[in-house]
Amino acid sequence: MSEHERTFVMVKPDGVQRGLIGDIVSRFEDRGLKMVGGKFMQIDQDLAEEHYGEHADKPFFDGLVDFITSGPVFAMVWEGQDATRQVRNMMGETDPAESAPGTIRGDYGLDLGRNVIHGSDHEDEGANEREIALFFDEDELVDWDKIDSSWLYE
Ligand code: UDP
Repeated sequence: MSEHERTFVMVKPDGVQRGLIGDIVSRFEDRGLKMVGGKFMQIDQDLAEEHYGEHADKPFFDGLVDFITSGPVFAMVWEGQDATRQVRNMMGETDPAESAPGTIRGDYGLDLGRNVIHGSDHEDEGANEREIALFFDEDELVDWDKIDSSWLYE
């Protein structure tokens, strides 16, 4: 399993408005993941519709696009062993009401339509790389050595 697996993560507009960026970043840092990209940005209509394209025919699609474009987000790329699945584990379930305490959605959310965070789906092969490419140019991602890597990986 590669220590260099990358996944796309985003604090959604509700998480930004509620001041949760720092806490969410800390959780991933504490876990041992390495940030290799990050930007505070506003998602426009086109990007929202592309990012959530798989849900285009769902009844919640228009509301989801309105929500994700309603204010700034903090988009990130995190790297580490099994990063995509581990981030999803830390996020909890899609519905915060079904998410265990200790997970991000279980600690900070109550409502399905305001679930604080997005992370690439580990069950959707290649979703992480596709989403990274959608939000980041190659030159916005940073290759760097973190001093604790020999203590995180055997
Ligand atoms: N969503 C919603 N209503 C629903 C299902 C999903 O508003 O009934 C939103 C919710 O914000 C979710 C996003 O659509 O995070 C994408 O849904 P997906 O099933 O991909 O969940 P995720 O991968 O975010 O857990």
